[in-house]
Parts: sequence; C-alpha cells; structure tokens
Amino acid sequence: MKKLVIILLLMATGATAQVRFSADFESGSMEKAELVSQEMKNGTETLVYDFYSRFDPANPARPTLAPSARWYYFCMEGVKDKEIVLNVKNSDARRPYYSYDNVNWTRFSETESPDEKTIIKKYNQDKVYIAYYIPFTYTHLLNRIQDWVKNDWVDLSSIGESEHGRNMPLLTITNKNGKQNKKVVYIHGRVHTSETPGSWHLERMIDQLVADTPYAHSLRENAIYYILPFTNPDGVVEGNSRSNSNGVNMEVNWDDPEEVTTKEVKNMRAFLQSLLAKGNVDVFLNMHSQSMHQATYWVHTAETSSDKLYRNIMVLANLTMQDNPYFAKKDLCFSKMGSRYCEGWFWNNNGDKTLAVTFETPYTYYSQNKEGEWVSIENLRKFADCNLIALGDYLQAGAPYRINVSEPESANGFQTMTDNSKFYFGNSYLKSTKEGAKVKYVFNGKKEGVELPKGTYEVYKWAAGESLKVSNAGENEWVKVGEINHNGGKKIKYTYTAKEGELADNLLFVKK
Ligand SMILES: [Zn+2]
Repeated sequence: MKKLVIILLLMATGATAQVRFSADFESGSMEKAELVSQEMKNGTETLVYDFYSRFDPANPARPTLAPSARWYYFCMEGVKDKEIVLNVKNSDARRPYYSYDNVNWTRFSETESPDEKTIIKKYNQDKVYIAYYIPFTYTHLLNRIQDWVKNDWVDLSSIGESEHGRNMPLLTITNKNGKQNKKVVYIHGRVHTSETPGSWHLERMIDQLVADTPYAHSLRENAIYYILPFTNPDGVVEGNSRSNSNGVNMEVNWDDPEEVTTKEVKNMRAFLQSLLAKGNVDVFLNMHSQSMHQATYWVHTAETSSDKLYRNIMVLANLTMQDNPYFAKKDLCFSKMGSRYCEGWFWNNNGDKTLAVTFETPYTYYSQNKEGEWVSIENLRKFADCNLIALGDYLQAGAPYRINVSEPESANGFQTMTDNSKFYFGNSYLKSTKEGAKVKYVFNGKKEGVELPKGTYEVYKWAAGESLKVSNAGENEWVKVGEINHNGGKKIKYTYTAKEGELADNLLFVKK
C-alpha cells in the first residue's frame, strides 16, 4: 500500500526514480553519468544524461601519448518505457550496440544514434546493456579455447602472465604428423582492448583453422599456426580502451627502455625469439580494429622496408580482396616501418624474411560506404574466411583444394623478370616475348605427398599488375582462365598460351 502511494506521488510530480548506471562486471567501463534534465511529455518520461567514458591510466612509457576513453560498456537499470538520452562525452556514439540480456546485441538505429555524440531510445525492458561494440571478454575466450583444444591438432600453452597475473594463452594449430619444414605463421590480437571486432574476426579464423574440413586439414598439413588471441588480457578484463593495466599502449612499446616495457611485451618478445631460434616465421599478422570506416592492411612502404617485403604484403592484401565484398583496392593504408611496433621488431630481427603486417577491421561500415552493410559478427566472419583463403594461397598451403603453383615445369618464349614494377609471387615472373608462348604448370601430388581428388578444377592465373598503391581493375588478382577435369592421376597439369608481352606468374587450381 505504501509503495503505491509513493508511485502515485511520483506520478503526480512527473518524476520517477533515476536510472542506475553500473559497469562493475568483466570488461565493463564508464566514468560517470550526470542527470541534465528529466521531464514528462505526452505520457513518456525523458531523462537526459551527460555520459562520460573512462580514460585509460596515464602512459608511463610515452607520457605525450594521450590516454584513450573510446571503450564503454555499462548497464542501465530502471529504464522501462522511458526515453533515455545519453550525450556521450570523451568517446563517440557511431551506432553502438545495446542488449537486454548481455548476450544478444543490436545496433542502435540511425535515428537512435543520429550524430556520433548522442544515443536516444525508449527501452521496453527495465535493464539494458550498452557497449561501444559487442563485447568479447576474456571469459568468452577461455570458453572458446576449451572448444578448440578438443581437436587433436590444437595444443594449448602459455607465453606467460600479464602484469596482473593473468594467463596469456597460446594456441598451436597444426597436423602433428604432417610435413617437415612447414611454413610458420604467428598471429596476435587485442593489443587495443576496445577493438572487439578484431576479436570476433580472429575467432572465426581460429574456428576455420581448427575445423574438421578438407581445406583446414590442408592448411594444417602445410603450416603451423601460433595464435595469441589476447596480448592484453588485463586491459580486456579491466575495461580499458587501448592500454594495459599500467596505461601502456603496447602497440608502440617494442623499443621502449626496459623499465617501461610491459611484462606482456617481454613475454611476446621472449616467445618470438624462441620461434626465430627454431627457424623462420613466414607471416606475422597483427589483428586490430580502427575508427576509419574501412578495413585495411598497414602496408610498410618499400622505402622504409624493402621492395620484397612491400611486394609480399601487397600480394597478401590483394589476395584478401579476392571475392571479398568488404574490402576494396582503395582501402589500403601505407606507413613507415618503425621499431616501436611488433612489425619493427620482426624487421630488426628477421628482415624481410617475415611478412609482418597489421590488419584492421572497422567498427562501423566497410570501404567508406555508409549506405552499405554495417560491421556485424556475421560479416566479420565472412571477411575472416577471405583472410584465411588469402593466407593459404600466400603460403601455398591449400593443396589439394587450392593448389597454388609457382614454378612452371617449362616455359617457351618467355623472359624471366625480377623488377619491382609488378606485384608477383616469389622472386620473379615471366614476360612473353612472342605470340603463342607456352608455359606449363604441373603439381606433382606424389612428390608433395598429396592425394589429388578426382573432379573438376577451376584454373586461375595470377594477373601480376602494376605495382600501384591502388591496383588497376583486373590486375593483382586471380583471373579465371579455364577448367580441367582431373580423373585421379598423381599430377595435375595446365598449359597456358600467352599473347606477346603478356605476363605469367603463379597458377591456381581450385577444386570445385
Ligand atoms: Zn589497434
């Protein structure tokens, strides 16, 4: 009875209890919310808050680097049937996400998130979670690791502990009884903890790499994948935006003085030293997400690295664009090689023998196209599938389902080219000197220890093109040249006939 009286009183004055904000859960983060106004209009109560996200601690390694407050993830209670307006301070609101159950997330619509600074919505349940992007927590990672390690081809270890004593789990994925001299890939993610799209993307790459599919089997047969999903577990759990627990932005911590180098970076360096002591690391992928409205690779310019590294990165980048609606040739970004980055560490320790590069997914939409698809877990997964196929093609690790042949068995009427005016695989490409020049590609399954399934294979040639930052249409991509029927022999062959001046590089057989 007493409760009813209070409610009636509140209704009479037009005011009800305020919204309760909290972020005291894993990856939760906010600074404060201040009530600006509260009014009743046409039967709906509207509460306006100035919402402040929380800055990371000051960076002791690089004091001039301003701390970030991008990440927010908080809960509001007492919101049912109320219109809540949040003026987002310290960060932005570019259609962030909300969830009534902290599991299923929905993007705010354009009208609910109209100007990159405001979130306005009438909620139909009492409790709602809001996050900059769909959270990807340490607990979620540990649960997924339990799924992954059920497979014989996945080993779990640790490269050490974080500053706050959290484990830094490392996955090693390979067919243990596979080939000798496998290619070696190292991938790490989540240096910047707000960049959860990158974790959803990497999760899919891992799911596909550990899958019990013929193609994944080939990838594991030909290469070994070391994957460190979280380089910064403390930052993730503690809800930071870009730094570890001490405020250090670890992306640029690789050449800092020892006393301000984080434990996490020291663990990574020790692990990578041990890998290089065993042999080469062919590819290093540094997985991030960025505020620009496009995916990208941060391609090291040839001037600050080498022509070979630049070319290799451009080949991998262009492979990733193949049949990928979310990645256009114009989306690439270019940067100087720098010792402060992990890529610089590889450059200093292994030169251009490691293709080391940062890859970014956006938070918002792809290729600057606001009218196109906005970034979702579903399209990040499709994107990740393209990354994995690109990686397999680059490593020539996809046989017998994607057989990338680099060395022709014979070539008549061609000249070998090694200049840097084109993007090509390996160390050279061919240029036809006459009409009707023939180049013969053979993949010897017996020699490679690969059984070639019977059936139709599509045949593609790598259309090595001008070494431009934005490749021309139809260049630096696989171009279909035919189909062949393979009826179960040990070798698969294709002879390509070229026009005068035409280029020839790798050939790809794709099992239909
Ligand atoms: Zn980042």
